[in-house]
Amino acid sequence: ITPPALSVFETLESEVRSYCRGWPAVFDRAQGARLTDEDGHGYLDFFAGAGSLNYGHNNPVLKRALIDYIERDGITHGLDMATTAKRAFLESFQNVVLRPRDLPYKVMFPGPTGTNAVESALKLARKVKGRESIVSFTNAFHGMSLGSLAVTGNAFKRAGAGIPLVHGTPMPFDNYLDGQTPDFLWFERLLEDQGSGLNKPAAVIVETIQGEGGINVARPEWLRALADLCHRQDMLLIVDDIQMGCGRTGAFFSFEEAGITPDIVTLSKSISGYGLPMSLCLFSPELDVWEPGEHNGTFRGNNPAFVTAAAALTTYWADGQMEKQTIARGEQVEQALLAIRAESSGDVPDVRGRGLVWGLEFEDKSRASAVCARAFELGLLLETSGPQSEVVKLLPPLTITAEELDEGLRTVERAVRET
Ligand code: PLP
Repeated sequence: ITPPALSVFETLESEVRSYCRGWPAVFDRAQGARLTDEDGHGYLDFFAGAGSLNYGHNNPVLKRALIDYIERDGITHGLDMATTAKRAFLESFQNVVLRPRDLPYKVMFPGPTGTNAVESALKLARKVKGRESIVSFTNAFHGMSLGSLAVTGNAFKRAGAGIPLVHGTPMPFDNYLDGQTPDFLWFERLLEDQGSGLNKPAAVIVETIQGEGGINVARPEWLRALADLCHRQDMLLIVDDIQMGCGRTGAFFSFEEAGITPDIVTLSKSISGYGLPMSLCLFSPELDVWEPGEHNGTFRGNNPAFVTAAAALTTYWADGQMEKQTIARGEQVEQALLAIRAESSGDVPDVRGRGLVWGLEFEDKSRASAVCARAFELGLLLETSGPQSEVVKLLPPLTITAEELDEGLRTVERAVRET
C-alpha cells in the first residue's frame, strides 16, 4: 500500500502553524458565513477569521467597492500618502464612529496587523509618561511581537520568545465575586509603598472580553473602577479592542457598555471588513506627541483596505441596525448554549459571552477539542480558546442570518451530545 503523498503543508510549511490545524481540509471559496473546500464540502463558519470577518466572507457590498476601486486603477500602496481612499475612510470613521459617540480621538495607522497597533500604543504610552512598565492581566492576549507578548498573560506563548520578557506588571483579571464592589486599593497601596519595589507603570492595557484567554467578560463596574484607578494614579488606559471591537459585542466599541473613555484604543481584525490587513491606534489629542517619522512603517497605507473599511462603516454602522441585530442574534446563541448546558449532565461548567462572542467552557482541553473535531465532521468550523484551550469559542460573522445561526447551534448541540 502506498501511503498518501505528503502535501506542501507537511513538507514545506513550518510546524508553527496552529490555527485551523484541527480542520483537515484545504479551503477554496467562501461567501457570507459559509466556506467550501477543494473537494466541494461546505462548512458553516463560527470562527470568522478569528474575528476578522464580522461582515462575512466576500461581503457583496464590500466586494463591489473593492472591484470598482481596483478597476479604476485606484492607488493600492500608499505609505503615508494622502489619497482619496484614505480620506473617504477617515471621513466615514469620523462621521459614523467618532462623532456620534462624542469620542475626540486622533487616528494613527500603525501598520498592517493587530500587534502593530498594540506596539504603537505601548510605545506611545512610554514616551508620554517617560516610564517603562505596563500593567496587563492574567490570560490577556495582545499579540506575538516582543512588546505585545510582554503584556500577554500566556506562559506557553511567552515561552516562544525563549527569554524572559520584562517591563510588564501582571494583575488578576476581573476576579471580584458577584455583588462585590471592585476597587483597586490593594494595588494603590503597592504603588505607594516604596518598599514594594513597584515602579509606577506608564499604562494599563486591557481587553474588555478576553477572546484568546477564554471569553472572560470583564464587568462594567470593574472596567469603571480600573478607569478610575488609571486616572487617580496618572496611568494611561489602553483598551485593546482588536478582537472585541468593530461591533462584536453589540456596540461598535466594546467599552461603550461600561461608559468609559480610554486614553488609547487599538483596532484591527474587522476594521477593514474584508479580511484585509489594517490596524488603527486611536488616542486622545494631547497624546499626539510624536514628531513626523518618530513612528512609521511601510504597510500603513493599505488603500484597498481603506475602501472596504469605509464601505463597511457607511453600510452597517450609520443607522443602529447592526447593534440591534447583533444583540438579537447574541440572545439566540445564549439561549441555545444555556439549553446545552442544562442537558449536559454537569460537564459544561460555564457559558459566557456578550453580543456575538460566546464561550462554552469544558473541564479540559481534550473534551473541547473533541467537540470542535466532531463539529468539523458535521460541517461547522469552531475553535478553542482559554489558557488550556478548554473553551469552545463561538464567533460567527455578525451578518449571519438567524437560520444559519440556528443551524450552527444545532450542530454545536449535537457535537456536545456525541462526544
Ligand atoms: N489583541 C487582541 C485582543 C487579539 O485578539 C489579537 C489577535 O488575536 C491581537 C491583539 C494580535 O493581532 P494580530 O494577530 O493581528 O497581530
